[in-house]
Amino acid sequence: MTLTSCDQLLASEESWRVLAEILPQLVWTTRADGCVDYTNQRFCDYTHATPEQLQGYGWGQFLHPEDAERVLTVRAHAFRTGIPYEVEYRLQEGQTGRYRWFLARAMPVRDEAGHIVRWFGTSTDIDEQKRTEEALRQSQECVNILMSSSIIGIAITEGEQIVNANDTYLRMTGYTREDLREGRINWMQITPPEYLAQTLQAQQELAIQQSTTLYEKEFVRKDGSRLPILAGRVTLPSNSIQTIGFVLDNSARKELERRKDEFIAVASHELRAPLTVLKLQAALLKKRIGRQSMQKSAADLEQMGAQVNNGVRLMEELLDVSRIQTGTLKYAQESVDLGALLREIVETMQQTCPTHTLILHGATQTMFVSDRNRLRQIFINLINNAIKYSPQAKTVEIDLRTTAETVTISVHDHGLGIPPEQREKIFERFYRAAGAREHAIPGLGIGLYLVAEIVSHYGGTIAVDSQVGHGSTFHVTFPRTSQA
Ligand code: ADP
Repeated sequence: MTLTSCDQLLASEESWRVLAEILPQLVWTTRADGCVDYTNQRFCDYTHATPEQLQGYGWGQFLHPEDAERVLTVRAHAFRTGIPYEVEYRLQEGQTGRYRWFLARAMPVRDEAGHIVRWFGTSTDIDEQKRTEEALRQSQECVNILMSSSIIGIAITEGEQIVNANDTYLRMTGYTREDLREGRINWMQITPPEYLAQTLQAQQELAIQQSTTLYEKEFVRKDGSRLPILAGRVTLPSNSIQTIGFVLDNSARKELERRKDEFIAVASHELRAPLTVLKLQAALLKKRIGRQSMQKSAADLEQMGAQVNNGVRLMEELLDVSRIQTGTLKYAQESVDLGALLREIVETMQQTCPTHTLILHGATQTMFVSDRNRLRQIFINLINNAIKYSPQAKTVEIDLRTTAETVTISVHDHGLGIPPEQREKIFERFYRAAGAREHAIPGLGIGLYLVAEIVSHYGGTIAVDSQVGHGSTFHVTFPRTSQA
């Protein structure tokens, strides 16, 4: 602005004021040093202050404390250099006390000699725009977090083609970002034929209600392997060409389902076996009694008793598993001599185990407040496994060691051993090792789950050392300090 135009403006002060008063912005002027000497009525209405209260630096009291320093620095720089400025800040509404965002713009007016005589400024309400920007930023942040999720695979599809996907989706399908860029991922291709009809049905559902329910299917990964997944899809109302798919890895659930099915099959088989033997023996006994062969009958009865015990133990373990699930497994509180208990268990088990010699070390008197039957369950399970999973071996060693703080019972066998990747899993419900040799040995996969549960009830730990082909040692350690 030149001095002539400024002169003209100032000369018609009234028309200038009218202009300032009809503008939708807050309008103000300052002296060359930045001291405010005029504010329009809108400024006064907004701040609920008189022009006198706003003059000088009075308007500064309405600045948001977090913006004040920044604004004052920008202004100071402008007044020092004479460069027009723009700055965003929050200004307090006088009546409500709420802050709204404004964009201030100011320009200097110079005289003929080029000296600044005044600054003209406006402050435009940009609160709406700011809030929209913030909402956008937040929703973008949510999208980014979602896209970088390591749990949910997300893919954007156009027709059959996957046009964008997050890293998790790529990991699940086994494709690379390069494959994605080159358009090499096609959902028809990664859908196995037996899931195609279901997937197409989901597409139809999508056309009607803009989202599908979650459904189970599998991916055919790039290397041909399969991954069980849970999938869902939505369309964007603003873009009917693209759909967004959400995918969850369902393999853990599927694996548990598989184990349960296998468990039911094995459990029914295991329960039927002793009952079949019992049935045969009962028929035999009936005949013998008929023929008065008492001595043989007594031996048969003993065998029948053993079968009944097996059946009952199996049923008890199954019941215990369900009690653990419902949190109703009961524990008695009694003083138990671990040494004596181990001696008793080893002696009894040895009587029915002709294949292995059970060797017990260190079974000195060691008192431990607990439930005798639950402890018995731990040791019988571990010794039974040691015998079962070492068919070629001759001995199983059991060891009791104490320190001032702990008591440790170890069961050591010279059998098949346990591969490192299975050592955590064997304590899971229904888990049975995958190897053919282990599978040939009967079991339900609940023994170690029960053992681990009881051990942890007493604040103890269970650990396994093992070397495949050479044997395993299970160590159960209980704290003694908590007992004291
Ligand atoms: P199971 O009834 O199958 O024996 P467990 O829960 O007792 O169930 O054991 C789970 C799995 O751990 C077994 O199927 C077996 O593969 C493995 N396992 C347990 N004890 C031993 C051992 N002493 N040596 C080798 N493998 C073992």
